[in-house]
This record gives sequence, C-alpha cells and structure tokens, in this order.
Amino acid sequence: MATSMTDQYIANNEKYASGETMHMPAYPGKQPIQPAKRIAVVACMDARLDVEDLLGLRTGDAHIIRNAGGVVTEDAIRCLIISHHLLNTNEIMLIHHTRCGMLAFTDDLLKAGLEGDPAAEKLLGQVTGRAFTSCKKSVATPAAFHAFRGLIEPLDAPRDAKNMERLAWDVRRGMSSILHHPWIPTSGSDAVAVRGFIYDVDIGKLEEVSYPGPMGSIG
Ligand SMILES: [Zn+2]
Repeated sequence: MATSMTDQYIANNEKYASGETMHMPAYPGKQPIQPAKRIAVVACMDARLDVEDLLGLRTGDAHIIRNAGGVVTEDAIRCLIISHHLLNTNEIMLIHHTRCGMLAFTDDLLKAGLEGDPAAEKLLGQVTGRAFTSCKKSVATPAAFHAFRGLIEPLDAPRDAKNMERLAWDVRRGMSSILHHPWIPTSGSDAVAVRGFIYDVDIGKLEEVSYPGPMGSIG
C-alpha cells in the first residue's frame, strides 16, 4: 500500500521524540540513485529540524527538499516531478513546524523593509532582534517570500491554537498545490500519496494535518 513508508516514519518519529538515535550517519557504500524507500520529503529549512533524525531516515532512503517554510513552490514542484517520474518515489511527506519564522512577517512587510521603508525597517528590527538594514528597491527580487497567511506574531513565539491553525492552513495549501498539479498523479496506477504534518520543535514530535480542511482567510 502506498502509505506504508510514511506510517513507518511516523513510528520512527515516536522513538526519536522519546530519545532514541534513529539516523545512522555512517557511509553505507554503493547505492542506487532511486530512493530506497520511495519517499520525498518537503520540509522547512529551520535549523531545529533535522529531517534525517526526526524520521529515522538512512542514507539513500529519501529525497529531501527544503526551503524557508517547507513551502510547495514552483521549484519544490519541479523537484517532486523529477523525484516521481524519473526516480520512482511514490509518497510525499510535507512538514511544517511550530515556532516557524514564516509566521512572523508578511511578504509586503519584508519587501517594504528591503526597499527602505523606515516603518518596516523598524518593525522588522523589533521582530527579529537584529538591526534590519535596507538594500533599496531592486527589480531582481523573489516573486514571493511565501510568508504564511494570518496575523503576524513575534518571531519564535511558542505554540498556541492560533499559530497551529495558521501552520495547518499552509500545510493544506501545499498539499493542495501538489494534489492539483497536472504533472503529479495522485490517482490511478502511478499515484503518489501525499500527507502533511506539523513538527513540534519543543518536543520532537510530528502531528498529522487533516486534509481537506481550512486553508486560511484574509478576513
Ligand atoms: Zn520554519
């Protein structure tokens, strides 16, 4: 069944959270290019998230695609298409986490700060605790930073119902992006299974996000 490896990694995570060493960092010798467990993980770049450890992955098991937020961007989709169609993965785990920095700003705020708006520079300085220095406006900028929907909160704020809801919104938006992509089959004989999670960086545990469900509101 397509979901079996994800279930195995959820079980591994239980052991990791209770203090077991799960990842074996030794060089395993020659291996094939295709991930042995046929799994691709999309996760945030946060330094507290060690994907190999928290899932108990071994070298050669999985593709790991990381960016700020674990957002399903155009480039993450590019990687997932290659991962599935050329390298035979058939399960995707999407992992967001508590205390994520993407909860603490908006795209407009960061852009305004970079462009030199004094109010934005001041606010970003307060949020991050470092002197925010403008670089002035440029045309060569990311199209989006993909900050999460909802009211911003202080950087590294502890878990609460509101920020868990905001994280779940974005996990579902990412799952939706994958599930509705025409080049990633999620039904039929070549189907890829997609499941989403929030990792609690304070206790080391994964929690699954239900899908479908709310994906946020600007209201
Ligand atoms: Zn993060």
